[in-house]
Amino acid sequence: LFIRSEKWIRPDRTVVTICPYCGVGCSLDLKISEDRILSVTPSRDGAVNRGQACVKGHFGLEEIIHHPDRFTTPLIKRNGQFEPASWDEALDLVARRFTEIQDRYGPDSLGAFSSSRCTNEENYLVQKLARAVFKTNNVDNCARVCHAPSVTGLAACFGSGAATNSFDQIEDADVLFIIGSNTTEAHPVVSLKIIKAARNGAKIIVADPRKIELVDRASVWLNQKPGTSIALINAMMNVILKEGLEDRDFIDRRTMGFENLQKTVEEYPPERASQITGVAAEDIIEAARLYASADKAMIIYGLGITEHTTGTSNVMSLGNLAMLTGNVGRRSTGIMPLRGQNNVQGACDMGALPNVHVGYQPVTDAGIRSKFEEAWKVALPSVPGQTSTQMIERNPGKEIRGLYILGEDPAHTEPDTNRVRSTLESLDFLVVQEIFPTETTRYADVILPAASFAECDGTFTNGERRIQRVRKAIPALCGQENWLTICQIAQRMGYPMSYGHPSEIMDEIASLAPMFAGVKFDRLDDGGLQWPIPSLDHPGTETLHAESFSCGLGRFNAVQHKYPAEQTDTEYPLILTTGRRREHYNCGSMTRRSKGIMWVWPEEAIEISPADARELEIEDGETVVVSSRRGSVKTKARVTDKSSRGMAFMSFHYQDVLTNLLTNAALDPQAKTPEYKACAVKIEKL
Ligand code: SF4
Repeated sequence: LFIRSEKWIRPDRTVVTICPYCGVGCSLDLKISEDRILSVTPSRDGAVNRGQACVKGHFGLEEIIHHPDRFTTPLIKRNGQFEPASWDEALDLVARRFTEIQDRYGPDSLGAFSSSRCTNEENYLVQKLARAVFKTNNVDNCARVCHAPSVTGLAACFGSGAATNSFDQIEDADVLFIIGSNTTEAHPVVSLKIIKAARNGAKIIVADPRKIELVDRASVWLNQKPGTSIALINAMMNVILKEGLEDRDFIDRRTMGFENLQKTVEEYPPERASQITGVAAEDIIEAARLYASADKAMIIYGLGITEHTTGTSNVMSLGNLAMLTGNVGRRSTGIMPLRGQNNVQGACDMGALPNVHVGYQPVTDAGIRSKFEEAWKVALPSVPGQTSTQMIERNPGKEIRGLYILGEDPAHTEPDTNRVRSTLESLDFLVVQEIFPTETTRYADVILPAASFAECDGTFTNGERRIQRVRKAIPALCGQENWLTICQIAQRMGYPMSYGHPSEIMDEIASLAPMFAGVKFDRLDDGGLQWPIPSLDHPGTETLHAESFSCGLGRFNAVQHKYPAEQTDTEYPLILTTGRRREHYNCGSMTRRSKGIMWVWPEEAIEISPADARELEIEDGETVVVSSRRGSVKTKARVTDKSSRGMAFMSFHYQDVLTNLLTNAALDPQAKTPEYKACAVKIEKL
């Protein structure tokens, strides 16, 4: 029984679905009465969480679903003001304007940002809309600004760009090497598995520029400077080779390119790496010995690895370390990239990327293309499209003029947001589909309301490749589910896209992508399945690369240290690194609307070390101005020993403190992911 408006209410049903926040993929029970969510609690038999959830899953959802700020009707901008419109009127306008732009400037003047917050089925339809209807490969998702280097880097090592193992296996590892991941804040339920592993006797190595909570559990803390992971890992491999701790049998049987790697890591004795990273040479040696001596050593990493101009090389460096010691292809070993948004894995799997169809099948492969052309009954573009980070630049001769953005907020989350705002302003036509007003919806010509996770049927794929069922708990507050809206845009643009239910979309996905051939909605009811699932009787794959790598032999990729693109100087003397707080999520458009969460963490603050605070004569709690070469924000200062001297930290959850006005848009050359984790700033008293 629940008390609401002084009345006792008994739920009339419980619907089990998946948390819409991070990539852990916790199962949640939604208790409902008369189409209102009464409570959200973690499911006891959730495949990943088993009755656990973090503060966001517990308290950050119930009031958000029915929040009065929700968009419930389409809005069309007229004379600078948004006015309500019918679905027919809004969709007719969207289709007409996109068709006009396509006719006048060509298909590549259109683009689509799909959403790592939306279901697999919605992502599949957005990329199909881009390819089959817009006739362009200009489609991408927010993995571009977080884990695209994981896809390119892990694929370069192993042939598959995904987590190699399962979250449960963390608990049985002997050593966990956690690098660039503040797991307790960003992926709290995974951090509980790390803590359980530590209680079981596992040794923890933490590499992080901040004194994060897991440092208290660590045998070694490698307090590295931001952007120095390659030097650190190369030095660990230098020690491993010097002390004969490598797995020769694994190297000989299962890998190629070892000689090149050996030559490169010879250049990184711990003493040299110490100068680059700021980590004591003896700590590097201790970490190397611990990792290499374990029977089962697992690497867990986050955006501290990927959001650098060396993001792909950082990931490849971790692949080198795992292969050098034979720590891949077995239970409780391997590499676990912790995905940020709940379906960032699935958005990539579904082909919401500019270079691949669903199941990572290249758009440039003529055989693959003709398979899709036959299935979709339309000619398809063969040239890879632009990434989201490229679409947001105004590339001369390649300008995007019409853009469809589903469930993303680039005006808040892209780096150097002044640049992004001016691009959005300059578009001929912008359609944004969202559940709440955001920074990006301000620039829209048409806002299409979106259904939330509680109003959709479909699937999400979590960070361990587990495809789980998302179940519709209540009718869509905006009148229709998102997959239907995408179909209606396609139909109005002359393409017959039509399905009766999201399960039919998954059936089409399974028929076109061999790695998903065994997926059917009714097979996912009991905790989901981990891909690859190549046939209907296949049980799914807990551990990748057990017999051989997806590319045959694993490939060592020798990589060299490179400093972050922006360095400090006398004017901008501090390095700013950005990340998340446990209570909030991404641009905060959802969590900032939860009273409970705002009570716990109401505002942004820049974290600085006591030494820097003393030098700048800044008190804890004082309001300061933080400036980079791109912009300024006003925020409070928090003086904490979590920050090392010369380093500051901010999250990016608040609309009144747009941290990304400061961050640097310099890109990783392979994955085109920006360097959010290191830019130069100054802090001034107000
Ligand atoms: Fe689980 Fe992540 Fe949701 Fe927290 S935010 S409940 S860890 S899925």
